[in-house]
Amino acid sequence: MTHANFIGGEWTKSSDTSRNINPSDTNDLVGEYCRAGIGQVDSAIASARAAFPKWSRSSPQLRADILDKVGTEIHARRAELADLLAREEGKILNEAMGEVTRAGYIFKYFAAEAVRAGGEYLHSIRPDVEVEVSREPVGVIGVLTPWNFPIAIPSWKIAPALAYGNCVVFKPADLVPGSSWGLAEILSRAGLPAGVFNLVMGQGTVVGDAIVNHDGIDAVTFTGSVKTGQSILQACARRGVKVQLELGGKNPLIVLNDADLETAVRVALDGAYFSTGQRCTASSRLIVESDIHDRFVAGLSKALGQQIVDDARKPGTTIGPVVNATQLNQDKEYIEIGKKEGATLAFGGEAIQRSTPGFYLAPTLFTDSRNEQRINQEEIFGPVASVIRVSGYEEALQTANATRFGLCAGIVTSSLKYARHFQRNADVGMVMVNLPTAGVDYHVPFGGRKESSFGPKEQGQSAREFFTQSKTTYIKAT
Ligand code: NAD
Repeated sequence: MTHANFIGGEWTKSSDTSRNINPSDTNDLVGEYCRAGIGQVDSAIASARAAFPKWSRSSPQLRADILDKVGTEIHARRAELADLLAREEGKILNEAMGEVTRAGYIFKYFAAEAVRAGGEYLHSIRPDVEVEVSREPVGVIGVLTPWNFPIAIPSWKIAPALAYGNCVVFKPADLVPGSSWGLAEILSRAGLPAGVFNLVMGQGTVVGDAIVNHDGIDAVTFTGSVKTGQSILQACARRGVKVQLELGGKNPLIVLNDADLETAVRVALDGAYFSTGQRCTASSRLIVESDIHDRFVAGLSKALGQQIVDDARKPGTTIGPVVNATQLNQDKEYIEIGKKEGATLAFGGEAIQRSTPGFYLAPTLFTDSRNEQRINQEEIFGPVASVIRVSGYEEALQTANATRFGLCAGIVTSSLKYARHFQRNADVGMVMVNLPTAGVDYHVPFGGRKESSFGPKEQGQSAREFFTQSKTTYIKAT
């Protein structure tokens, strides 16, 4: 079956298709997915524009019921959707199940937010005048998402967009369209009026570019790489439309001498290597104080030796494959760069064979690395982390902040003093204390600073900032 695009309430095919390949077994074709042409992008945007006036004034209860229904179906089908996610992206089943479950909760959370959404009432500084700050939907939102969270990231953009009365034109990653198509299929049966939600799959440089530069798009929400994000920022600035970007990271995890060693190892293993290190919130810089350094490296190396790198859907696998050949080559190139830069390869470093042809890479740890090296300044986006030894907390903090990124940062310590100081002084959008840098809740702001993010934060009630626009009204009754 070829999976079609969803435009104006109709499933619409195109002759161009992409082949979705299982990274755990490249002989396994997950499915074929249509790539929209420019004419189909135009139709999707026109349908969304036509649907907007009515949808933007629809009853919040209607929107809430639809979003809740979507969340309920995602949960009811979580095993099937998680299997698809693991098969197409290489995330192990447990992690895939977590991602799908979270997608369902996001829809349920924004179902309630649709009803709760309101504005503010204030007294004017002038006598007998009242002021209302109301919130209105923005219009037609272009939603562009990456391959690494193919159902959760689309959910945390699409659910608030619809909850606040916007229409959506959604383009998932060309590499991993299956879970996003599954989500679109659920949305197509949830009771949305035709044109409110549209799916146009295809390549970023074609379909994504057409969305970003289209006059019918009122705002763009994008998650992906820094390079693409910067070009989207420029395109949106030229057109003067709202834009929200969630981009890369090079997140630090500090381990202080007073840390509980077991916690430090567990937190580093999870943050740096789970989901094959393919998370924007992964902690790829492990900044470790001298006295605990050797014990931490020994503990983490031992834990890495216990990991099972294999087919993402095989019971017992703890680290799945890298997503595709291009990403695997990028990871291997950075491993060579790390060696050339003089870091010590303490664990892993090589691609590995399994019973099925897939993109398997041993979890890789560098030690004796310096923060200014490329392996510590550029996002690798694989199961590769490096240890930077520091002499004390002050140096650790300074090292943690010495990066162009600012998504999240973690610290493992038993000292409240250092934990609180780090919370205040880490130049990032999210701080984790004695917890992995990856792993966030859906009801609080998500996003970073510096080159990691641009525009209002996502998720929780902060989503309202991007998906609505304010109107201030002054009223004198007589
Ligand atoms: P990417 O930038 O290659 O692609 C992201 C999306 O943009 C895809 O749908 C792609 O098709 C589309 N696109 C590509 N070129 C385009 C163009 N010229 N115009 C319009 N759209 C275009 O990113 P990716 O490789 O899919 O994802 C990995 C990246 O995503 C990593 O850098 C990672 O850090 C980042 N990421 C960030 C967050 C976050 O919240 N900060 C979360 C997950 C992933």
